[in-house]
Amino acid sequence: MRRLAGIAVLLVAASSLDLARSSISHGRSLEYATELTAIGPRVTGSRPYGRAAEWSAAQFRAMGVTRVALEPFTIERGWERVSARARIAAPVDRPLRVESLGWSPSTPENGLYADVVALESFSLDAVAARSLRGRIVLLPEGDPPRNPVTAGKTTNAFAVRLRAAGALAILVPDGEADNLLTARGLSFGTALSVLPAGQIGGDDARAIRELLARGPVRISLELINRITPAAAIVNNVIAEIRGRDRPDEWIVVGAHLDSWDFGTGAQDNATGAAMVLEAARAIASLEQPPRRSIRFALWGGEEQGQIGSTAYAREHASEQDRVVAYLNTDAGTGRVIGWTAPGRADVVRAAKTLIQGVLDELGAGTFDESLRYGFQSDGAPFILAGIPTLDLNADDTKYEEIHHKAADTIDRVDARNLAVGAAAVAATAHAIADSARGFAPHLDRRAVERMMNRR
Ligand SMILES: [Zn+2]
Repeated sequence: MRRLAGIAVLLVAASSLDLARSSISHGRSLEYATELTAIGPRVTGSRPYGRAAEWSAAQFRAMGVTRVALEPFTIERGWERVSARARIAAPVDRPLRVESLGWSPSTPENGLYADVVALESFSLDAVAARSLRGRIVLLPEGDPPRNPVTAGKTTNAFAVRLRAAGALAILVPDGEADNLLTARGLSFGTALSVLPAGQIGGDDARAIRELLARGPVRISLELINRITPAAAIVNNVIAEIRGRDRPDEWIVVGAHLDSWDFGTGAQDNATGAAMVLEAARAIASLEQPPRRSIRFALWGGEEQGQIGSTAYAREHASEQDRVVAYLNTDAGTGRVIGWTAPGRADVVRAAKTLIQGVLDELGAGTFDESLRYGFQSDGAPFILAGIPTLDLNADDTKYEEIHHKAADTIDRVDARNLAVGAAAVAATAHAIADSARGFAPHLDRRAVERMMNRR
């Protein structure tokens, strides 16, 4: 009898391997990514972002997940691109490839018509040496210095100096070849920049510099953006499958739902959101839920500096000690390599023990503990809280071709790699949530600081 009962239990308790296999053969990750990109680009706080959040919540409910919530956080301003136009007016007449930088204010009504000054460096001496009053300032090529700790501060301080010197607007050359533009803000965050700020194709910027070597250059510039008059509310989408045995411990599985607005944010990050949705669908369709709970999270504000996931970590700080692990997916659809556990060899060991065989079958069994990408997505607030964090790792050799560019559309998505990624996310989340043993410890603040110092 006991033996028979044991077999019965084995039959109903789906293994993580079965879960991965069924997700590959019957999964819906491509459908989810296709539907999400059909909503359009999803800039944080924009109306399409709001529609994507509502759509996602409806998907969770449709798969039978009943605990679904829109969890609000606040951004300083809502911002949507409307239009951008620029031309060289003298000494020649020709169009310029220009778009607003994110969270740029609009230019005054009827636009600007002014001489250009090109700066040779980001030094304040360079600003002091030039007459900028009433001029449009073309910045040097290359990104002004940025890092996650002082994100944007340098550029903002620089823009403040330019405004104080009387500049009317800023043009930032894009570093890409062929006049391509890569969407971004002048700095991270959702505060309006202090001057109208556009990005200009690298070739066009060089053309202006060549003309400037011969004499004055006058351009017309019109940037129009829709900006909320005050702070705006944005929603993260949180859905929970309750654990059957230890519901008060949970895994969080997350991806950012927001995107930039050239292209439709397909691999950055509709595919990551689709992996989270597919993992939820696959796990919700099991005969029984895993031992522990799983919270599925779709974040807003990642592109402006992980604002949504950071707000969640702050709002839920008192219960973060019950988060067994955080799984993040934001790596596009190159070949799936495996998981990165930033800074945590012990997390790599714990994950390998649970899931190595399944990931090997998916061809996605390579782990590492690199800190390279750890703080560039929504794993960051979890890593900083000492929570064991795994970030899906995919081959990124072609990623820059689409990253924040007009080419980030659904037709460039690799459906097979997307399905493998979704299966890896589902199987790993299930294996950790269903494990009879613990996972890896939380780090205290000291240990997190030591890890950060190794970056
Ligand atoms: Zn991303």
